[in-house]
Amino acid sequence: MYAQPTHTFITIPGADIVSGDVLKRLPGVPVVGADPVDPEFPHSRTLHMADGSLYFIDPAQGYVVAREMNEPFRAAPLHANTLLVTGPCSTPTEVADLTAHAFDVTDQLGVNTIVATSTSHLVSDYAGVVVSGPSLTAGAKGRQMDIVAAVLEGEAIAHRVPVIVPQAVTEAAPCDACGQRQTIATVRSHYEEVFCADCRGDAPGCSWCLEDDETEPVYTGTGFAPMCAPCANVEKARQPSAWNLTALERATAPDAV
Ligand SMILES: [Zn+2]
Ligand SMILES: [Zn+2]
Repeated sequence: MYAQPTHTFITIPGADIVSGDVLKRLPGVPVVGADPVDPEFPHSRTLHMADGSLYFIDPAQGYVVAREMNEPFRAAPLHANTLLVTGPCSTPTEVADLTAHAFDVTDQLGVNTIVATSTSHLVSDYAGVVVSGPSLTAGAKGRQMDIVAAVLEGEAIAHRVPVIVPQAVTEAAPCDACGQRQTIATVRSHYEEVFCADCRGDAPGCSWCLEDDETEPVYTGTGFAPMCAPCANVEKARQPSAWNLTALERATAPDAV
């Protein structure tokens, strides 16, 4: 299930650097745009970096860029409101943490999620990109950004796909109605009351039968789908996984995940 992301470092002329490329000289800061070569200044080309800086390069000179070159893009997700969850994913432990983050996103926002373990996703196929850990827009706080997360967040910025960055730990609060802890994107009313997507009536319901019912995240092999209890029982049987324990199994096997 776990696949090591395969990145190719290639040397290409500066003129061929495109949005999403990560220059090896500036690790973790993807290119979000580039101005065409000005004929008056043939030896200049301006790259707009995701962190807001500008980077001048020579279009004729070779630059080492990181991009996944040998894997085709995945098919677009089935559900239009699917969020792509990205973050550190270079070790099995990091992938497990990222998968746990995707569980929380589906649990709290009630939408489908796909866990990105490589850059083979077209961010424009998704309703948004959720970043876990260091972020281009929220700050890396001194930590090195994972190259997959850097490329996908950079591409999301370039394509104007909404980015949900990690909120401050102090923002987390329980829903005033049902108590579900809101750690991803805490929504407060004008009166500072906290309500989860379910209690606001914003959760889209079961992604299988479309019933406007209470849902739980079910692991689909690539991410999580919000499903009502009857649909969840069927899909959990189809997709045996440590992420798909029934409530009883979870209670009796506390360290399974
Ligand atoms: Zn609630
Ligand atoms: Zn259902």
